[in-house]
Amino acid sequence: MSLETLLLTSCAAILGAAIGSFLNVVIHRTPRSESIAYPGSRCTACGHSLSWSDNIPVLSWLALRGRCRYCKAPISARYMVVELMTAAVFALAVLEFGAGLAGVRAALLGTFLIATMFIDIDHLLILDSITIPVAAAGLLLSIALHQALSALEGAFLGAALFGAVYLISRGRGLGLGDVKLAACLGIFLGLANGITAFAASFVIGALLALPVLALSSRGRKDVLPFGPFLVLAALIVTFSPVLVFGPYQAYQSFVSRHLGM
Ligand SMILES: [Zn+2]
Repeated sequence: MSLETLLLTSCAAILGAAIGSFLNVVIHRTPRSESIAYPGSRCTACGHSLSWSDNIPVLSWLALRGRCRYCKAPISARYMVVELMTAAVFALAVLEFGAGLAGVRAALLGTFLIATMFIDIDHLLILDSITIPVAAAGLLLSIALHQALSALEGAFLGAALFGAVYLISRGRGLGLGDVKLAACLGIFLGLANGITAFAASFVIGALLALPVLALSSRGRKDVLPFGPFLVLAALIVTFSPVLVFGPYQAYQSFVSRHLGM
């Protein structure tokens, strides 16, 4: 990895951690219809407003050992997990797609996926107020990248596939929010990656849902959010190539440089 790439990736990770900190506010407040701008960050236990030094991504949580500075209430490690995940997604976006529009689109997709996954796990909700603006931004970026046709094909595929499952299962297999999520992901992934991701989401869903269904008592209908499976599949399809092939390429160039092979 060149020094320039290393610097760019580090900057992307730091920016991602800061966006992840904001994402925690979005995940907590948007489903409750609260403003994400006002008031500033507060402890959810004692309501004390947080100073800038309590708000440094990852580091503040570690320095305070996961407790509020004022009331000592435990702060969920999930805040730090969200910040680390967003930092990782930004770094991978730069490594895989470069620091241009394609990288911005991948980072936006990753950020959207993280927010969607945690809101769906918490509330069994996929929010139009997040999905629709992100889909519009994704379409604009795809037009700018001359990939509008593939984006529309991907959106159509996602809407048709998940719309059919929604209709056949009469809304019990998945919700209308999942249909819109699939269409939105289709815009970002395009047709080819969309096919891979949608197929993978059903496989991941089956693998993770079967043990739950087997362990729960017969006839009981547990509600499993399908959104996280779609999210996982889209994350894998978008960011796994750099994770798999990046180290392999680094190994190859190391070998060719130092061993003359
Ligand atoms: Zn507190």
